[in-house]
Amino acid sequence: MKKWFTIKRIDNTTIAISEYGHWEKVHSYLIIGSNSAALIDTGLGIGNIKEVVDELTNLPIKVITTHVHWDHIGGHKHFKDIYVHEEDSKWLEEGLPISLEQVKRNLLQQPFSQKPPNDFNIDQYSVYKGEQTVKLKDKDVIDLGNRKLQIIHTPGHSPGHICIYEKETGYIFTGDLIYKGMLYAFFPSTDPIKYKESIDKLRNLENIQTVLPGHNELIISKDIVIQIGEAFELIERNGLLKHGTGVHKFINFSIKL
Ligand SMILES: [Zn+2]
Ligand SMILES: [Zn+2]
Repeated sequence: MKKWFTIKRIDNTTIAISEYGHWEKVHSYLIIGSNSAALIDTGLGIGNIKEVVDELTNLPIKVITTHVHWDHIGGHKHFKDIYVHEEDSKWLEEGLPISLEQVKRNLLQQPFSQKPPNDFNIDQYSVYKGEQTVKLKDKDVIDLGNRKLQIIHTPGHSPGHICIYEKETGYIFTGDLIYKGMLYAFFPSTDPIKYKESIDKLRNLENIQTVLPGHNELIISKDIVIQIGEAFELIERNGLLKHGTGVHKFINFSIKL
């Protein structure tokens, strides 16, 4: 039987852990340093991501949350050391502003294209709620020994959304701010203006080489940052940078406001 998680090494110590069997095609990432490792997001919670991580490293794990949406915190329950931006921490502690029924409808919106693990049971599915160890702020640096990860606060998709930037390698882990496909900025908790500002913030980083997103196609050229930035500029010029203006279509992505 094909395993639920697909492992792909971006390099020897940077590993994507993907869930292609689910329509959302979610990616989490393991970044292995010399004295600890960071796990960027923990996926959908359909399979046990800790079992996969344990096969890849014995180092202590810091779970860095790009944002507190159910599809990226599914495996948080398996870990102790949880990092969340301070503006999303309320959702982690008190729960998301959508119901469990809604989450389950989203989860099952399209049939699985791969068989889920035998122990997966939708009736027992729950969304993680709990404490965090560290509340993150913009410009915080997470030290893994020989690797340093910079936190960039990029609100818009969620108030406490962050991107994680490794200047040395030029990797940027963009969560749900940037991926190929439909970008979501239409929920009440999203903010189209902040979304645009966050993209502009990334455009100003000096050494982005590789975009590693939270969904869909795994490794994206850095050009997408500029493309999405220009798309937002066009939407703004047309006076449409606000909720309720619908789906704005571009070549590699669309933006739902
Ligand atoms: Zn999200
Ligand atoms: Zn997502």
